[in-house]
Amino acid sequence: MLTQEFDTIAAISTPLGEGAISIVRLSGNDAVKIAASVFKGKNLAEVSSHTINYGHVYDHETLIDEVMASVMLAPKTFTREDIVEINTHGGIAVTQEILQVLLRHGARLAEPGEFTKRAFLNGRMDLAQAESVMDLIRAKTDKAANIAVKQLNGSLSTLINNIRQEILEALAQVEVNIDYPEYDDVETMTTQMLVEKTAHFQKLLENLLATAKRGKILREGLKTAIIGRPNVGKSSLLNQLLREEKAIVTDIAGTTRDVITEFANIGGVPLELIDTAGIRETEDIVEKIGVERSVKALNEADLVLLVLDASSTLTDKDRELLQLSEESNRIILLNKTDLPEQIEIDHLPSDFIRISALKNENLDAVEEKINAIFFSGEIEAQDATVLSNARHISLVESALSALTDANESLSAGLPVDLVQVDVTRCWQILGEITGEAAPDELITQLFSQFCLGK
Ligand code: GDP
Ligand code: ZN
Repeated sequence: MLTQEFDTIAAISTPLGEGAISIVRLSGNDAVKIAASVFKGKNLAEVSSHTINYGHVYDHETLIDEVMASVMLAPKTFTREDIVEINTHGGIAVTQEILQVLLRHGARLAEPGEFTKRAFLNGRMDLAQAESVMDLIRAKTDKAANIAVKQLNGSLSTLINNIRQEILEALAQVEVNIDYPEYDDVETMTTQMLVEKTAHFQKLLENLLATAKRGKILREGLKTAIIGRPNVGKSSLLNQLLREEKAIVTDIAGTTRDVITEFANIGGVPLELIDTAGIRETEDIVEKIGVERSVKALNEADLVLLVLDASSTLTDKDRELLQLSEESNRIILLNKTDLPEQIEIDHLPSDFIRISALKNENLDAVEEKINAIFFSGEIEAQDATVLSNARHISLVESALSALTDANESLSAGLPVDLVQVDVTRCWQILGEITGEAAPDELITQLFSQFCLGK
């Protein structure tokens, strides 16, 4: 495949925040040489691979920082090149300075995603795996991160490779049949085999696609509006939802990160609190944007959480909001159930949930309800491969439609070689997922979406 001479790249690979430790990463043939030229301590060019070394980074005579330098020699590294990671505990300015010194000593500033791109180009991972690095960086909850980690470990790639292998075998069998026309009834036999095989492949791809809805929601989140009259507890609920996990920790180096806080988290499902015309958390949606537009805005939300105060009787405002959200994917929450109940529950649709935002009670039931609405209640299999990436989903859809074409040709009695074309197309499309059949422009474009330093 692609064997290229790569220069040595450098970047800060931790988020540019107030974190205690920042890492400047170097990758390439001269990684060790360049690091050694600014490092005082042990001679990095002579230390063993995969060691952490204490020392100081100097810009000529000027001390910049006390650091730990990890030296990892190819090929057992993320990029399959020599890598040096310099851990600093100084702030942003110091970290930038170290990067600048490395650049002056011969490293080149990495482009966004270039470390991962090298891992891909050097055969360390396929495209689906490389994309999962990006998904992991962007994961909004621990569940989304788990999907990405699984994919990074190659679960989707293995599945796709197995299906492609089966398709290839079927195509080979067709070739063999065609090459031995002296057999009786080759055409009928081959047709029969193709009918069975395409049905089988269709089933495999349909099963995979069935996981996509969950995957997409876990990855992108549900657009959610929290509505209710003043003082029912919307802000309290929001705070509870925002309070869950604050950091995603994985054992993959350099991927620990903070959960993006605009996303609330309910049982691992990210809720994106939408602000269309101010309905992120709203008491008077009707006054703000009018009845018709309110209904429309609420319908555009994937999920509406209508909060009612269980410790008081229903008001006109409550009734209005109940009506307004009738057509939406709505969950009615009776809040403040830690207080004596006053609300007239026989005036409510029966599928409400009692919670206490104040005491953080029964939010599990809300999680179950979301599962029921969006995942048809199915419990997620721990080891299931989930399709979550939009690019992968659309490729599996196209692969499936190639099989539908094949089926149609078969039932229309078209010659086998026409069917072969469709099945081959299916095989090719699936190859784009792992990158085996991906064009260069696509690869460039995909990696350019990464953050710096990854
Ligand atoms: P919002 O106006 O709908 O955003 O309501 P807030 O979240 O600001 O809450 C209004 C008041 O109700 C505050 O004093 C909260 O502490 C209180 N509150 C919220 N949830 C509960 C609950 O579950 N139980 C009780 N007892 N009080 C609550
Ligand atoms: Zn509020």
